[in-house]
Amino acid sequence: FGSVAKPIQRNPAYSVLNSDDVSYFKSILGDNGVIQDKDRVAVANVDWMGKYKGASQLLLLPKSTNEVSKVLAYCDSRRLAVVPQGGNTGLVGGSVPVHDEVIVNLGGMDKLISFDNVNGILTCEAGCVLENLSTFVENEGFIMPLDLGAKGSCQIGGNISTNAGGLRFIRYGSLHGNVLGLEVVLANGTVLDMLTTLRKDNTGYDLKHLFVGSEGSLGVVTKVSILTPAKLPSTNVAFLSCNDYMSCQKLLLAARRGLGEIISAFEFMDRQCIDLAMAHLEGVHNPLPLSPYKFYVLIETTGSDESYDKAKLEAFLLRSMEDGLVADGVIAQDISQASNFWRIREGISEASVKVGAVYKYDLSIPVEKLYDIVEEMRSRLGDMAEVLGYGHLGDGNLHLNILSSKYSDNILAQIEPFVYEWTAGHRGSISAEHGLGQMKAEKIHYSKSPEAVQLMASIKKLVDPNSILNPYKVLPQSAL
Ligand code: FAD
Repeated sequence: FGSVAKPIQRNPAYSVLNSDDVSYFKSILGDNGVIQDKDRVAVANVDWMGKYKGASQLLLLPKSTNEVSKVLAYCDSRRLAVVPQGGNTGLVGGSVPVHDEVIVNLGGMDKLISFDNVNGILTCEAGCVLENLSTFVENEGFIMPLDLGAKGSCQIGGNISTNAGGLRFIRYGSLHGNVLGLEVVLANGTVLDMLTTLRKDNTGYDLKHLFVGSEGSLGVVTKVSILTPAKLPSTNVAFLSCNDYMSCQKLLLAARRGLGEIISAFEFMDRQCIDLAMAHLEGVHNPLPLSPYKFYVLIETTGSDESYDKAKLEAFLLRSMEDGLVADGVIAQDISQASNFWRIREGISEASVKVGAVYKYDLSIPVEKLYDIVEEMRSRLGDMAEVLGYGHLGDGNLHLNILSSKYSDNILAQIEPFVYEWTAGHRGSISAEHGLGQMKAEKIHYSKSPEAVQLMASIKKLVDPNSILNPYKVLPQSAL
């Protein structure tokens, strides 16, 4: 079955859920927090792509840190395996059970705790949906430091646990820089209060970073404090086409030099992505329909001076066209045009899953080599599957999507391990921003040394000695 071809054996050391367990959970969470209804549990068992399916019998919906703590302490004492779940938009099968793990979804913990509107520091519970947080802080004159296509469903706790990158990374950097504090519940129920709101604090090891990107394998994030940048008044979005990949690269360098202080996104997609978006997304139209170009780039600028910023972007585009880097281009004249441009870029994932089967690879590769893998994959696969390349070019992050009507072991055998070996050979990363989940737990060695994996396993054993948190994910079974 596609990228999950080899079945993972259930670890018999885990207990099997029984009716006493369910009664205990009801005594802690009440009837509404303990879901056994088959339809609701079925939804929580399947990931966003419909690719990874677990067989959990139980979905728990805690409403407070204390409830999470009691649930985990109990699961640890009984050795019941647990999957922490946020918005379930993850793309590597990390958010759903592999077997019968109990699902603990944080969606009920969605309270805003405080907002410091002088320093732009937001403190909230982990189950807050990213888009709701964005709307809230924008009304206060700030923005969230991250934005992604899944914003309407993903939760800030999920974003932190995957160290999500997304569309604003080029401007505001990684969550490692923006997250100021966390509250985390460890596997044995201990509540680790690291919820500071300080910009600077060098007292010992900065433990919160262990949990940023740990994909629910070290603890359950329950509260978050995060730095939000000021909202700037002028945003412009341009949609451009380039005749070859070299022009995209040169355009990136030119944009870094020419738009440096105002650039807020630099996204690229190939022709196949535009065709896919036009075929499968409702209500979008191709901003540059006249000629079929090979590559498209979306540039967003955000700054503080409306007329200066617009003039700067226009002059940059003119120069880039004169220099032959850009074949054609258009700057959005209003919000609806700008959102059409964004909808095309953000809708590629959604359009991909509509084709049937999608093999998704999220790679960090030096920019000059980034598109080579797309072309090599195309010639390997011929007409077995369609190969698309797009992503956050400004961050050296390629999303390689391979589409076919259904999953097939033949196609998978052409893709893996080639894609991982190629990436490792170019000193890239096999996961730029989506994490490892169950898809790539056994592949970590392509990007990390044996010593690093061993140290990670030691940390996992220290904080979760019974290995109840998100088993079969992130680390290879042999390391634990
Ligand atoms: P889930 O999918 O529920 O969980 C993801 C992982 O985090 C799992 O391992 C889970 O166990 C763990 N987890 C969740 N909540 C907690 C918690 N409170 N405590 C501990 N562990 C927890 N990702 C990017 O990085 N950049 C993008 O641009 C991007 N675009 C996307 C676009 C679309 C259309 C889609 C569907 C996904 C995209 N993603 C992107 C992937 C995904 O949205 C992110 O990984 C997101 O951060 C996951 O958040 P979530 O709340 O849905 O987490």
